[in-house]
Amino acid sequence: MKHAKQKSRPAHHAHMRRAARSEPPLYTVRRSRIHGSGVHAARRIPKGTRIVEYLGERISHAAADARYEEKGQDDGHTFLFVVSSKVVIDAGVDGNEARFINHSCDPNCETVIEGGRVFIEALRDIEPGEELGYEYGLTWESTDDPDELANYACRCGAASCRGTMLDPVPLDGKRRQQAQRRAAKKKTAAARKNARR
Ligand SMILES: [Zn+2]
Repeated sequence: MKHAKQKSRPAHHAHMRRAARSEPPLYTVRRSRIHGSGVHAARRIPKGTRIVEYLGERISHAAADARYEEKGQDDGHTFLFVVSSKVVIDAGVDGNEARFINHSCDPNCETVIEGGRVFIEALRDIEPGEELGYEYGLTWESTDDPDELANYACRCGAASCRGTMLDPVPLDGKRRQQAQRRAAKKKTAAARKNARR
């Protein structure tokens, strides 16, 4: 009977060998030169590679606001990712390693939203040891507390560093720009109408 038992073993070993042969991980999490922990390439990552999905609890904007207004911005590092006007992913709850990817003003990664899911992809070839980063473009309002906005200072070290992880234009500024563009369009349309008369 002992022999029979051994006979069943090779199948198990074959399976183990397959597991051992699987691809080594693309990235590791370790201390970052930019901020706290960072995600670094463990091997060469070719341009266009889908590196990791940004996971976490899916909540509404209202729920996210309530959750983090209470806590305050301790170190300017929340794990919220805005997916749409309805959904925010809070990687502080059930999040994966993607939450440790820092902002960069000269990013080697980009985020791709597909069917409500968020993926981080390589924007260019990435060499082993390089820290992964993408443009956070955090939204803000000109009425936000300047002290709070200062929490989002960027120290990515890129030559093109803007000094902030915030979107260059505040949300209310964008709305103003959009309104101005709409008004300008109307004006041009009216001018054309007048010119035809
Ligand atoms: Zn920067």
